[in-house]
Amino acid sequence: MKQVLYLLLVVILLTACNNQTKKTDNKTITVTILPQKYFVEQVAGSNFKVNVILPPGASPENYEPTPQQLQELNNSFIYFYVGHLGFEKSWMKKFSDNAPDVAYISCSKGIDLLVGGHEHCDDDHDHVTKNGTDPHIWTSPENVKTMSRTIYNELANRFPKQAEEFKANLDGFIQRIDSLDFYIRTSLADSVQRDFMIFHPSLGYFARDYHLNQHAIEFEGKSPSAAHVRKMVDLTRERKIKTIFVQQQFEKDKAETIARETGTELVDVDPLAYDWMAEMYSFTEKLKESFSN
Ligand SMILES: [Zn+2]
Repeated sequence: MKQVLYLLLVVILLTACNNQTKKTDNKTITVTILPQKYFVEQVAGSNFKVNVILPPGASPENYEPTPQQLQELNNSFIYFYVGHLGFEKSWMKKFSDNAPDVAYISCSKGIDLLVGGHEHCDDDHDHVTKNGTDPHIWTSPENVKTMSRTIYNELANRFPKQAEEFKANLDGFIQRIDSLDFYIRTSLADSVQRDFMIFHPSLGYFARDYHLNQHAIEFEGKSPSAAHVRKMVDLTRERKIKTIFVQQQFEKDKAETIARETGTELVDVDPLAYDWMAEMYSFTEKLKESFSN
């Protein structure tokens, strides 16, 4: 009931916005997550205001946007969404029904998506929801190049006078991504260890690109059963995993249980941080460190 009332309020608010004469401006871009704000700024400089739907600390799987955020979306000329995130799936139709003048662009366009899980894995737990698509495309540097090119193409088409500036920015960003990629490859080249454990499986594309095995404690997007936790304890010992990665957006108690039983260390990662480049270097360092122990 509360949800129905809430939706009604959203619809009323958006209808009210629609009745105003000016619908979108040419200055505001909406994105779903903070790393996308970073990508847009790398390509577009400070030419636009970037409105981020998902606030820090919120989970992209089940977030509910506020009426004010929906109003801000309605002011934007474009919305670069990630593509397959849980809350995007449940909200996209409402978004486009209520803010029809916004251009909706999927950043998953042109990306080789992980579908149905079980990449590089011989155990029987899922890395992504059964028959689902792994939505965490931005944890792969290669994917981020594609995402940035999508952002560039859309902006260059709309603002041809600034296209040259955007192209120079894009080229610079791609060079920095190539350096990052080289750094990751050289950092992980010598290690025999290829397995890592994480609560929420947000690094599937990173794992694919760098030939690693991601093991998730979370099971099909839900808190794991005691049996699954037990299996992860066994796997931690068997694969000699020394570190369990946890994210502030998700529960930590099951990871703590496994860490306590196996003597492994909990280490924070934040794939939703604004400074994507810094986070990728930092994660690589933590991974290298955990592999060398
Ligand atoms: Zn996720």
